[in-house]
Amino acid sequence: MRYYEGIDYFVRHMPFGCNTIFAWAVSLGDGTFDLWLNDDCCPKKQMEGLRHELVHLEENHFYRDDMTQEQKESVAWGNQIIEEPSLLQNGILQFPLRNEIPHKVFTGT
Ligand SMILES: [Zn+2]
Repeated sequence: MRYYEGIDYFVRHMPFGCNTIFAWAVSLGDGTFDLWLNDDCCPKKQMEGLRHELVHLEENHFYRDDMTQEQKESVAWGNQIIEEPSLLQNGILQFPLRNEIPHKVFTGT
């Protein structure tokens, strides 16, 4: 879903009293959101936070229960989801075959 500023979300500013949280999204309960930017952070960090919160909105993270919070955060920060290995299937230890999962090559030494 596409969100439009001033219609679906409203950008607001306030100091959070810290500089580790760049932005924060708050559902207004009617399908719209306030996106708060932390005035204790520099404008660049605020824009990173805004982009992050917009990904949460566009990916419908507020309404999805098929993803963990960690997966939602990873996606919103621009990373790919690495799924938990499905450990046992039919009694055989299984791991997903995905190119992005790093693997170690043993050279014999
Ligand atoms: Zn987030």
